[in-house]
Amino acid sequence: MAENNAPPAEKVVPLTEPPKEGEAEGEKGPSKGALKKMQKEKEKAEKAAARKAAEEAQKKQAEADDVSKNDYGELDPFGRHPGIPSNEKVPRVKLSTVAEEFQDTSKMDEPEGPHVVFTATVANSRGQSAKLAFMELEQEYNTIQAVIAASETLSRQMVKFTTSIPSQSRVLVHALIKKPKEPVKSTTIQNLEAHIKKIYIVCKADAQLPLQVADAERPIPVEGEEDNTKDQEDGRPIVTLNTRLNNRTIDLRAKHNQAIFAIKAGVSQLFREFLGAHGFKDVQSPALLGAPSEGGANVFEVTYFGGKAYLAQSPQLYKQMLITANFLKVMEVGPVFRAENSNTARHLTEFTGLDMEMELMDETDYHEVVGLLENLMLHIFKGLRSRYSKETDLVRSIYHVEEFKLPEAGKVPRLTFAEGIQMLREDGVEIADMDDLSTPDEKRLGALVLKKYGSDFYVMDKYPLAVRPFYTMPDPATYGSDPNDPNAGYSNSYDFFMRGQEIMSGAQRIHQASFLEKRMKEHVSPVDANSPGLRDYVNAFRAGCNAHAGGGIGLERIVMLWLGLPNVRLASLFPRDPTRLAP
Ligand code: ATP
Repeated sequence: MAENNAPPAEKVVPLTEPPKEGEAEGEKGPSKGALKKMQKEKEKAEKAAARKAAEEAQKKQAEADDVSKNDYGELDPFGRHPGIPSNEKVPRVKLSTVAEEFQDTSKMDEPEGPHVVFTATVANSRGQSAKLAFMELEQEYNTIQAVIAASETLSRQMVKFTTSIPSQSRVLVHALIKKPKEPVKSTTIQNLEAHIKKIYIVCKADAQLPLQVADAERPIPVEGEEDNTKDQEDGRPIVTLNTRLNNRTIDLRAKHNQAIFAIKAGVSQLFREFLGAHGFKDVQSPALLGAPSEGGANVFEVTYFGGKAYLAQSPQLYKQMLITANFLKVMEVGPVFRAENSNTARHLTEFTGLDMEMELMDETDYHEVVGLLENLMLHIFKGLRSRYSKETDLVRSIYHVEEFKLPEAGKVPRLTFAEGIQMLREDGVEIADMDDLSTPDEKRLGALVLKKYGSDFYVMDKYPLAVRPFYTMPDPATYGSDPNDPNAGYSNSYDFFMRGQEIMSGAQRIHQASFLEKRMKEHVSPVDANSPGLRDYVNAFRAGCNAHAGGGIGLERIVMLWLGLPNVRLASLFPRDPTRLAP
């Protein structure tokens, strides 16, 4: 069937149209009044049709006269435009390269300025007049001012088109790079501007987005003050964390968010880099388990081919099983799941674990692992300082927190749990020797350590045995000190802290099957060594195993605390918490 491309005919009201209700006058047909009204409507419709035809003709003429008609417009889904020859291949540049190359503008030897082609995001645009418009174009961390001015070779239609492009659209730009009359204050590239010669929309953004990137580029509201929807100073909206997370792909466009995730990738890379250089094998343990293993409470149950499976709460047991299998140093970066209904600023239900486990050279001293872990953290901190200072400064321009203080000359403050308790007591906290530390106590201790040692990073060693998991090696000096309580005394375990918040838990683990079985029975929360979740684990030690120790670090916590972010969700791309599973 042939397609009918003719425009739909204008609706003309026929004179013979039946009279409307209330217009009928006996048997004689329409009244005089009704006829007059119909006549008027007909004239109105004819006039509208004529106006429309004239506009169409004008538009066609304008298009025919448009000197720039090939130089702007919307690209089709395949990146094509009638104005771009199909065989045209123009190399695209990065704004960062342009900025670097022309840092010294006297190097721009072309009389008109160098001609460049690049794709960018429209951060904003404003029309100054029918002949002149400005845009801010963005590529990664770089922004440049773009100017478009009507001339004999650039039509007003093209200027109008440019100002109509919605913010956040992706555009392809051909431009001449010039030195602006005055440095541009609002962009990162201040000594250059792009004079647009061609502009095509690669992908148009909706005119009304649910979240403005400019609003996402501000701190989240302080906890408890989410109802203050306007900034006191400039009256701009303060968007809640919830709205930002609901529209995360727009939120993530905010430059400080780009920086947060560059830093997160950096931490993961620095972790692998350091341990890799120390002979650790990168391993992948299963996340799907046939039975809960580390205590049943905080584990997610999932259906599995008509039966049940469980999501791993950490790779702990598998890391140790690999030690029994002669993988003498292992590391793993992977997701771990916690079914904790903790709606706090530091808990997620899925986070990234940075885990390691290693054999001990000396089975009587686990401190070689504590030392290695301290050096690992210092390597990460120093790497962040040297490689990610630009990103760190960017985030700190939004979240103003004190710079993270590293210990002097790399000497990490290492206190015992007992010393920590003593420091708290001296500061007026009422706390018993073996009490587990509450979060406020931990933060307070962090402040005391900072004051005393000048470091935001410290280690606490020798936790009470009763507060650690069943696989933790008791401290030989205090184990069995109370004949009535097998969990009395301390353990060979340690936690690492940043800004007074825990980022890592670790310990020497039990490596003999018989002692492991004993501790499983006598633990504060006893577990069954023959249960389906633990049987294979315990059996692995029956073939012999080296003394070993290790630790598990929360990647999002490091990022949050390094940058002083107010919420761990800001360090997770698509955070999962008890009330959020999307996007
Ligand atoms: P917390 O006491 O903070 O709940 P935890 O003692 O349960 O932590 P571990 O099981 O020892 O933590 O986990 C090791 C590390 O993993 C922690 O030090 C922390 O950095 C991180 N981590 C633990 N639970 C969470 C969580 N729910 N969300 C984000 N990170 C976590």
